[in-house]
Amino acid sequence: MSARNILVINCGSSSIKFALINEAQPHFTLSGLAERLGSPQAELHWKNAEGKRSELIQGADHRQALSRILPLAEKAAGGQLHGIGHRVVHGGEHFTSACLIDQAALQAIAATAALAPLHNPANLQGIEAALKLFPQLPQVAVFDTAFHQSMPEHAYRYAVPEALYRQHGVRRYGFHGTSHRFVSQRASELCQLDYQASCWLTAHLGNGCSTAAVVNGHSQDTSMGLTPLEGLVMGTRSGDVDPNLHGHLARTLGWSLEQIDQMLNKESGLLGLSGLSNDMRALEEAREQGHAGATLAIEVFCYRLAKSLAAMGCALPRLDGLIFTGGIGENSPLIRSRTVAHLRLLNLALDETANAQCIRGQEGAIQAAGHPRVLVVPTNEERQIALDTLALLPA
Ligand code: ADP
Repeated sequence: MSARNILVINCGSSSIKFALINEAQPHFTLSGLAERLGSPQAELHWKNAEGKRSELIQGADHRQALSRILPLAEKAAGGQLHGIGHRVVHGGEHFTSACLIDQAALQAIAATAALAPLHNPANLQGIEAALKLFPQLPQVAVFDTAFHQSMPEHAYRYAVPEALYRQHGVRRYGFHGTSHRFVSQRASELCQLDYQASCWLTAHLGNGCSTAAVVNGHSQDTSMGLTPLEGLVMGTRSGDVDPNLHGHLARTLGWSLEQIDQMLNKESGLLGLSGLSNDMRALEEAREQGHAGATLAIEVFCYRLAKSLAAMGCALPRLDGLIFTGGIGENSPLIRSRTVAHLRLLNLALDETANAQCIRGQEGAIQAAGHPRVLVVPTNEERQIALDTLALLPA
């Protein structure tokens, strides 16, 4: 059988990210982004063997954008597209792994909309458009939450009245599961350990950030919760705050729920602390120039990350290694170094030469000799989604 091609689609409310993965090739044969969908400025950008291109797709919606993306994908696949993998943010308790999309799956995804009101309806819109356009192709949904469904109850329950859990699904779900799974698996390969008998702490640090404890190939705990707001300091998200903050702001400042939501999700995190930017590169440069807000934002980010990793350690019987991934984790020796400096209790220490070398896609071990492993492992969520899709294709 020749190597198969999978188109991976990630639909947001006004964007579609896509990548074409050939199972035999390490790099994407096509990748791109359709953005500002539904507006006169809608644009499609893509990169393939011929180079980079952009084109205006004025007023295009998800379906129209996908109908433009398909011929690009078919061409890049040499006319042989075998399936489509969709990233879906929330699978609730229903989805513990990826699934082939049928009517029942569509209904179950729609039923979790209350848990992810911004994301799941957009994901569903993309799936429905793709099903209409490519009815003959097998399509698979891969959930950000599914990997964390193996968490034990003591890790996923909140200490709130039970009825909120039983009747309304109020519990911790966790996100970035595809990434935590991909990098922990890859780390096991790199270290020649059996994934099914390995213990990892993982830190996915992108615009959203989360940690996880992965034992024998199963997530045992993670820092995000009912929503992606819980846990670490992120680009614009606060991460953990006192749950009474909502009441405090409502009582003292008269803020509405919408205002508080907006502030915690869009105006906080690195942006809120620094008063400058949500982008770690910009903050590192500003810190170099002595910017106090950028310096503080980086210090809080690293301390809170270290604290979360130490807490995740409770879920591990032993530590085979700590893994850094995501745009920040893969590219910032400074953040890795400042974070590990807070983890002396776990006996972690870095070899700063190795640390400096692991940037721009370079994977490898960065711990000092004689200390527990610390690895940089570039994530590849698209490839993991393609692998999950391939595994479910009818024989
Ligand atoms: P997303 O979650 O949107 O996929 P990424 O994983 O691409 O985001 O991560 C984006 C973050 O990575 C940004 O904060 C960006 O500044 C940071 N980043 C990328 N390159 C570097 C770098 N060389 N040094 C520090 N931070 C970096």
